[in-house]
This record gives sequence, structure tokens and C-alpha cells, in this order.
Amino acid sequence: MNKLDQEQDVVNLAEKLGLTGSPVAAIINFCQDQIDTWVRDAGGVNSVDELEAVVTNRLNLVFEEINTDDDFERLKAKYVPLGEFVFAALSVDMDDDTYGTMVRLKDGTHVAVIDCRGDKAARRFFTRWHEIAHLLVEESVDKQVFRSTDEPLERLMDQIAGHVGFYDSIFTPLFNSSLSEGELLTFEHIESIRQDFCASASFQSTLFACQRRMRTPMLYVEIRMAHSESERRSLKQMRMFDDVPEEKLRVRITVPNEAALDIGLRTRWNMRVPESSILFSTVHDNADSDTSGDENLSTWTFSSGDSLMDYDVFIQARRIGDSVMATIQPRRGQ
Ligand SMILES: [Zn+2]
Repeated sequence: MNKLDQEQDVVNLAEKLGLTGSPVAAIINFCQDQIDTWVRDAGGVNSVDELEAVVTNRLNLVFEEINTDDDFERLKAKYVPLGEFVFAALSVDMDDDTYGTMVRLKDGTHVAVIDCRGDKAARRFFTRWHEIAHLLVEESVDKQVFRSTDEPLERLMDQIAGHVGFYDSIFTPLFNSSLSEGELLTFEHIESIRQDFCASASFQSTLFACQRRMRTPMLYVEIRMAHSESERRSLKQMRMFDDVPEEKLRVRITVPNEAALDIGLRTRWNMRVPESSILFSTVHDNADSDTSGDENLSTWTFSSGDSLMDYDVFIQARRIGDSVMATIQPRRGQ
């Protein structure tokens, strides 16, 4: 069950498309089926670039990328003389939280403008597929600004992008050839798959694409310093001169794959990371390269005295700013 299945906008979209069953899965399948048909008609594809060409051709979509501020002037000079005045003020739309915007020209062409400046470059691949997703579910979009909002339909587009962008007939063979049966997935595998698949796809989105295809259990977690819920509540009522409780290292995001769900491999939201964990030292030693190690998850305890399940696991971690992303996989033969 997907959290977005409950959202009215998502339910309405599935209904409008004439789909039945779980809305999110049905909408993703609907998009996938369209692309599969186009790829079949085109006689197959061998790379992401070929796939993108087939899809954008069908959707009457062109991409324009903003790599420097000068590109706004370039687009203005190209499109304003055609009577597309929205391009005169495009830079105003592209604030810090906006990665892409889509404009429908008078001749019916869709122009998706992808912001690739600075940190946004890391999302280039994803933003392109996010815009494609909009057109897959809605043939004609008047003007679509993609802000990284929490709106259900925007999150749905991200989910569609994560599925159809990592196109199965291209990605899965790469994945299968890099990993032998039962082998643990490492960051080195993911990086090499990413380079072979599409160097402009982010490491994290490639990680998720790999995780979904793994038949062995794998948890993805993100951790950072945070207060407990009760500390957070009491902080709200605190007076200035009270002692502020210290933040501790806590699990903020957990994403299991299906095999992990099957064996109950999980963590709990906001639980503390024990000092004995490799993740703890990754944060406290300010590690600037990846770390990895083995530990047993039963050392991850709760204040109630309970603990996570007794699994010997391999953990690999990478610091990203204030947080750490990590993968957790049981050692074989347990
Ligand atoms: Zn969007």
C-alpha cells in the first residue's frame, strides 16, 4: 500500500484515466504501458538517450536546459519573437525550490525548461522524467511549474519518474550483470551501474532503482541529529533559561525493499542510533569518505528495553551535509 493511494487528487487522476485497483500502482503501470508500446513501435531502445528521444517525440516535448543565467537570455531571444512571451520572465519562476517548468507553445509543442544550475544539476535526470510524467498522465499542460512541494500529485510524478526513467529493459540487464546472485549491493556497484546507465542520474535515485530490483533484503536509512518527540514537545513550552536537551543521532527516513518487509528487517522512525554503530562514528568522526562495517541490529535498543531483530548486517554509509544515508543488508546464511 502506497501512502499516496489515500490522496483525493491521486484517486481522481486514476479515475479520470479509467483505471481500477490501487491508484498509484495503476497509474505507474498506465505510464509504463504507454512507453512500452512506443518502444516496441520504435523497434526497441539501447540507451536512456534513445528512450528519451522516443518518448519526447511521442509527447511533442522538447527540453531546454538552464546551465547559467545567460541561458534565460538565450531562451528569451529564441521564443519571444515567436509570440511566446512567458519566456521573457522565466527567470522569475526559477526560484531556489523550482527545478523545472513546462510551457505549451501555440503550435502545441511542450517546452520543458530544466534548471541545472548549481546543486540542481544532480537532479537533472529526475527533473526531465518528472516533466515527462506530467505529460504521460495529462496530454496537454498549459504551464506547469515544478516546485519541490509536498503536494500529492507532485510526489506522484516523482514516483512515476523513478519507475519509468529507470527503464527496465535497459537498467535491469546492467543491474544483473554487475551483481552475482546473492551478493551484497555496495555503493561501488551502484556507482558503476549509474555510470553505465546514465551519468546524470543521481546516486540516490540509482540506489533506489537497484534496491527495488534486489531479491535479497535491503533497508535504506537516513539519519541525523534530532530531538525525541517528547523533547520536541517540552521544547515548545520551555523558558529561555531552561536547559535545552541535546539532540541525538536518530533514524529519520527508512525505506525497505520487499524482501526486507518479508523478514521484518526494519528500524523505527526517530529511534536512536547506538554509539556502537558504524553510523554513529560516521557522523562523529566527520567521515568524508564512505564507511562500512558489520554489526548486529539487536544492539539497536529502545528506551523500553526492546531492540531491533537479531540480524548480523553489513552497513555502508555516506555523509551528505548534516545527514548520513546508509544501506543495511543481512549477511548471508542467517
Ligand atoms: Zn510537477
